[in-house]
Amino acid sequence: MNVSETKNLLLYIAEKMVESEPVLTELDLKIGDGDHGLGMQRGFAAVRDLLKTETFQPKDIGELFVTVGTKMMSSMGGASGAIFGTLFRAGGKAIAGTETFDTKILTQFLSAGKEGVFNRGGAKPGDKTMMDALAAATSKAIAVQNESLVDAVDLIAIAAEQGAESTKDQIAVFGRAKSLGERSLGHVDPGAVSMSFILKYMSEFIKNNK
Ligand code: ADP
Ligand code: MG
Repeated sequence: MNVSETKNLLLYIAEKMVESEPVLTELDLKIGDGDHGLGMQRGFAAVRDLLKTETFQPKDIGELFVTVGTKMMSSMGGASGAIFGTLFRAGGKAIAGTETFDTKILTQFLSAGKEGVFNRGGAKPGDKTMMDALAAATSKAIAVQNESLVDAVDLIAIAAEQGAESTKDQIAVFGRAKSLGERSLGHVDPGAVSMSFILKYMSEFIKNNK
C-alpha cells in the first residue's frame, strides 16, 4: 500500500473508532470512569478531520503515523491520549522514510509502538491495559512477518482480540480501574478493546481493498 492508500486505511480506522464510542463507553463504565469511549471518539474525530484536510500531504508513511499520533495526543486527553498517541508516534518514528505499508512495516510499527508505550507508562502484559492486546498483536506479527499483508493482518487482529479478552481474568494495576482491585475481574479492559478494534478495522479495510 502506498502513502495515499495508507492514508485511506487510517481514515477508515478513524471513522470506525468514532462509531465505536458507545461500546467503549459501556466497557469503561464497568471498570473505569466511563470516559474512554468519548476520549477515543474525540481523538479519532480529530484524526479523521486531519486526514480529510487537502493540505495534509505526508511525504511518507512514517510521517503519516507520527502526525496522527501527535493529533491524538493533543486532542484526546486522559491516560489513553498519551498512550495511544505514543503508540502512533513511536511506531511511526521507527518506519520513517517508508513508502510502502506491508507486513514487515506493520511489524516494525507494532514493535516500536509497544516499546514506546512501555517506556511511557510502564505497563507490562498481564497488567490489564491495552498492552495486553498490543503485546499479543506484536508477537503474532513477528511470527507471520513473511505472510502477505492481508493474511498477516487478519491473524494479528485475531491475536489482539484474544489479548483483549484475556484481560477479563486480570486485576487492574494501572489507571482508574486500579482502585477496583479484584472487582475489575470479569470485565475486559476498555483500552485493550480499543487496541483490538484498531487492528480489526485495519484488517477489514485491507481485506475489502486488496
Ligand atoms: P483514564 O484512565 O484517564 O480515564 P481512559 O479511560 O481514556 O483514561 O483510558 C483508560 C485505558 O488506558 C485503560 O483501559 C488502559 O487500557 C489504558 N491505560 C491506562 N494506563 C496505561 C498504561 N500505563 N499503559 C498502557 N495503557 C494504559
Ligand atoms: Mg477512563
